[in-house]
Amino acid sequence: METSVPPGIWKGVNQMFADQFGRRFYYLRLSITEICNFRCTYCLPNGYSGPSASAFMRRDELRRVMRVFAEHGTRKIRLTGGEPTIRKDLDAIIADARATPDIERVALTSNGYRLPERAAGWAAAGLDQLNVSIDSLDPAQFQAITGHDRLQEVLRGLDCALEAGLTVKVNAVYMRGVNDHLGSFLHWLRDMPITMRFIEVMETGADPGFYERHHVPLSQVKQQLLLEGWQPVVKRRDAGPAQEFWHPDYAGRIGLIMPYSPDFCTTCNRLRVSAQGKLHLCLFGDHGYDLRPWLQHDEQADELAAVIRSSLGDKKATHGLHERDTGITRDLSMLGG
Ligand code: SAM
Ligand code: SF4
Repeated sequence: METSVPPGIWKGVNQMFADQFGRRFYYLRLSITEICNFRCTYCLPNGYSGPSASAFMRRDELRRVMRVFAEHGTRKIRLTGGEPTIRKDLDAIIADARATPDIERVALTSNGYRLPERAAGWAAAGLDQLNVSIDSLDPAQFQAITGHDRLQEVLRGLDCALEAGLTVKVNAVYMRGVNDHLGSFLHWLRDMPITMRFIEVMETGADPGFYERHHVPLSQVKQQLLLEGWQPVVKRRDAGPAQEFWHPDYAGRIGLIMPYSPDFCTTCNRLRVSAQGKLHLCLFGDHGYDLRPWLQHDEQADELAAVIRSSLGDKKATHGLHERDTGITRDLSMLGG
């Protein structure tokens, strides 16, 4: 008898989405559009040319996705894209995520476009955390990477997001020969109370040569940080894949996302749903499972859960990036990174 266990605990555990390796999925990355207005060199170097907005899930479909995951143990939802802020109904989608029972944290990943005007509205709609991509603190280099002369706007946006009470993280893809100057970022973090996450370049189907030219193993950066007195932060169960570090002399923290490190997949706690309503078991999986037929009515919730549960049986122990197998991932705008 589990008489000492608080009511509801076993029910929650039994219902959780989990895979054959015992990994549980506290974290959903939900793409709401594939469209993007930037042309980052590592993602969409020729700009976006995929399907138009009508191809992507409607608000009611997104609501059903969020609800079924929350009912099966997910506690954090990240809205991503493409560029999620392109969607006119973004504030309403944030509010829907916030209103989903059992969702504890709502996060958004954005390129920071028009951030100064919009941050407060997202916070009011219920956003907790904002991740903004800033690959360089040099305006010319920022423009060279993204195709947009908007660094100052994005930096002003960070201040607005902090003022609005959001937890702010900044993402930078760490590229050899481009922005691998740790010093300028460290200098900024002395007084900036944000987490700066460096991401290893991941190979995608679109441009394998980019990976060969620019990938740097961030284990090198980790060694440097440890030598300089940075200390590891203990992770939350719904935390993302970054290893985080703090330092008593810095207001900011550093996170390292190292998908090529040996144990990266053992702690996987996240699933992805594409803007077209496909469940992806891995960022680099070989296909998506179409959920859309089960997203049309609230009454389909049990069937939807059953489809997700049976798909989870196919989740592999690890991605195939070490074997240069990038699955069907043409670029990360398809799935939101
Ligand atoms: N447009 C938003 C943005 O850029 O933040 C959200 C979508 S973007 C695909 C999500 C994250 O994926 C960004 O932080 C971006 O830097 C990262 N990303 C895209 N392509 C990548 C690649 N080939 N390797 C590593 N990270 C990548
Ligand atoms: Fe757009 Fe984000 Fe890809 Fe840059 S990384 S092109 S902002 S989707």
